Amino acid sequence: MIGYDVKEHLRAVLDTLPDGVRLVAISKFHPVEYIEAAYAEGQRIFGESHEQELRLKHEQLPKDIEWHFIGHLQTNKVKYIAPYVSMIEAVDSLKLLQEINHQAERCGRVIRVLLELHIAEESTKYGLTLDACRSLLEGGEWRSMQYVQICGLMMMASFTDDKQQIRREMQTAADFFDEVKMKYFATDEAFCERSWGMSDDYDIACQTRSTMVRIGTAIFGPRVY
Ligand SMILES: *Cc1c(COP(=O)(O)O)cnc(C)c1O
Repeated sequence: MIGYDVKEHLRAVLDTLPDGVRLVAISKFHPVEYIEAAYAEGQRIFGESHEQELRLKHEQLPKDIEWHFIGHLQTNKVKYIAPYVSMIEAVDSLKLLQEINHQAERCGRVIRVLLELHIAEESTKYGLTLDACRSLLEGGEWRSMQYVQICGLMMMASFTDDKQQIRREMQTAADFFDEVKMKYFATDEAFCERSWGMSDDYDIACQTRSTMVRIGTAIFGPRVY
C-alpha cells in the first residue's frame, strides 16, 4: 500500500482528457511504487526531469514504459539516457540536438525529440524564442541528422493565475506549430505533437490543441523535494 490514491487521481485526470490528447504522467520526485500504481492502471508514458533519477527508475521498472525526458538536459548527460529514452521533450539548442543525434547513432537508434519554445514571460524558463526556433529550422542542419526525429513542439506557460495569459501563450504556440509545420514539415507525418498543459492548466491546453499533456501533481500529489 502507498499513502496516496494514485489510481483514483489518475482515473479522474484521464476522464477529463479529450480524444487525441495523450497523458505523460510526470513522476519526478515520486517513488517507484507510485509509478507502479499508475502502470497497473495501464499508464505507459512517464516523464522525468533528472537523468540520475530516470536511470534508477528505468532500471527498476518494466521495460515497456516509454520514458520522456522533460527537463533541461545538459549535453554531457545525453549519453546516459540515449540507449532507452523514448522522447526528449525539451530541446532548446542546435548543440543539444547535434549531441542527441551523435549519441543516438552510437546506440543505433532514432530518438524522437520536441523543440522547446520559450513563450512564457518568466525569464527563468528555458527554451527557444520563436525567432531562435525559426533560425534553427531555417539553418537546415537538422535535415541531415538521421538519428533524431523532430516530432513537434513543447512549451510551459507562465506560472500565473491569469487564465487569459496562459491561453494566449498556448495559442501562440499552437499558431507557431502551424507555421513551422507548413514551412518545414508539411510532408512529415511524424511532426504532429504539441506538448503543453500541466496540472493547473491542462484544461486550457486541451482547448488550444495540445496533443500531449504533462501532468504530475494532479496524479501523484505534491512533490516532496
Ligand atoms: C514538473 C513538470 C511538469 C508537471 O507539473 P505539475 O504541475 O506537477 O503537473 C510538467 N512539465 C514540466 C516540464 C515539468 O518540469
